[in-house]
Amino acid sequence: MRIGAALYRGYHVGVKIILANPRGFCAGVYMAIDVIDQLLEVTDDPIYVYHEIVHNKHVVERFRDQGVIFIEEISAAPEDAIIVYSAHGVSPQVRAQARGRNLIDIDATCPLVTKVHAEAIRYANRGWQILLVGHRDHQEVIGTQGEAPDAIQVVEHPDEIPSLQIDDPEKLIYLTQTTLSTDDAEVIISALKRAFPSLKSPPSEDICYATTNRQQAVRRLSPDCDLVIVVGSTNSSNSVRLTEIARNVGTDAILIDDVGELNPDALEGVHRVLVTAGASAPEDLVHSLILELVRNHGGEVEQHDVFHESIEFGLPGSLKKFMRSRGVDPEGRRISMDNIKATKSFLQANGISHRLVDLTVNGSC
Ligand code: SF4
Repeated sequence: MRIGAALYRGYHVGVKIILANPRGFCAGVYMAIDVIDQLLEVTDDPIYVYHEIVHNKHVVERFRDQGVIFIEEISAAPEDAIIVYSAHGVSPQVRAQARGRNLIDIDATCPLVTKVHAEAIRYANRGWQILLVGHRDHQEVIGTQGEAPDAIQVVEHPDEIPSLQIDDPEKLIYLTQTTLSTDDAEVIISALKRAFPSLKSPPSEDICYATTNRQQAVRRLSPDCDLVIVVGSTNSSNSVRLTEIARNVGTDAILIDDVGELNPDALEGVHRVLVTAGASAPEDLVHSLILELVRNHGGEVEQHDVFHESIEFGLPGSLKKFMRSRGVDPEGRRISMDNIKATKSFLQANGISHRLVDLTVNGSC
């Protein structure tokens, strides 16, 4: 919508701020962050994390400030140390390296990434070739490919299809990275199906519920807005994809790590702004952005609910085992996870009135 909503009653009411729901932390990110939080509570030993626990600058910096050590090579962890695998998962080769150093490994891989690993192993063991649609430099894709390097070829773009080495097109399946743009994936998968008509689809959708829901909310809400602000880091695949989805429907979009990166010029002539956040972006960063938009650009806040999410993952078995080894009962030890409730409290505490718009069609997921 390009008509100035700010002028709809004949006077200036500032920027209308639409908060997309769902946004921000997904169940896998909550679990991964909870793993580190729990470890910080139950042990004074150094905690090493292989790669960023989730792809968000603030999350990593906050843990670094608490003494957590992020490493890019397993060899950087001393023997017998605690090593946590990030939410993106790791290859069997990395696990073997950790075993070789006698590390205590705690697996914060998102169960939905583990599901893709399991599919890759199953089909490779049956002698199938696997086309893994995704970004070949992304940690998740590196980890999945490592499960069956001889059977898996990564496809990042349809241009790569002619160079694929296919032995038997009747034993060919595609899998996908969990955080792809559903639009981009569709383009690549359609091209693959044209090239290999017998290509089998994954047993269940690999692009995860959180990616799909956040993208669907942006796809639905951004056409009525002049600007989409995505809170997230540039190395967060799902955050970058949200900006692309908005641009695909013709709305300008910017990606910022925090409100400090917001250039006021971006709001020039903007009457309705959609605020969302990638699956690894903490909600308090969204709060700071709302405060800036309300205080310095006026306006009203509306939360538009497109899906209600209720998925939760329990603490990983490897962490529970570790806790028990330290005499800690893991039952009932979870951080609270409710962005929406937290934001409602935040808005009330700051005297910011807001309205809820329920656009959910068929409940929750
Ligand atoms: S974005 Fe999806 S796959 Fe990635 S951690 Fe979240 S739920 Fe898991």
